[in-house]
Amino acid sequence: MRYSKIRKMDISNGEGVRVSIFFQGCSFHCKGCFNPETWDFHGGCEFGEEQIQEILDLCKEDYISGLSILGGETMHPKNIEGALLLAKRFKEKYPNKTIWAWTGYLFDEYLMDKEITKYLDVVVDGQFVENLRDPRLKWRGSSNQRVIDVKKTLKNKKIVLYEV
Ligand code: SF4
Repeated sequence: MRYSKIRKMDISNGEGVRVSIFFQGCSFHCKGCFNPETWDFHGGCEFGEEQIQEILDLCKEDYISGLSILGGETMHPKNIEGALLLAKRFKEKYPNKTIWAWTGYLFDEYLMDKEITKYLDVVVDGQFVENLRDPRLKWRGSSNQRVIDVKKTLKNKKIVLYEV
């Protein structure tokens, strides 16, 4: 698995001050995508133990609320194992900090029964749709996308939106 970049402090992708990682590779190719340089699965850099350690170190500060995993496509079959490993290691070390993830797949169709979901707190799902773009929306680019409370969704076995 490959990644595009790691941000040490991110205040725009999720609640609070966060560390974020952008995965490399996406096959959706949404028109108007904000991050087309992450489409190529061969781009970016190799992701491994060194990057996991770097992220865990960056997250130790009290002011860091958690980790955000963005793309590229974080849950593509080529990326989901890396995402799972990172999420698992993060939650072992920081059970009280949150993980937010963005994906073009629909949570109820693709993610609900995947192992990674038990480590996630919030998922923003759905592909970006240019003619539904709305810059007033928080944490999502177009109105078809949903900000999902993962714990409540798994408990209720139906989509529960995240309330700020
Ligand atoms: S799913 Fe996300 S990264 Fe992939 S093309 Fe669509 S907006 Fe871009």
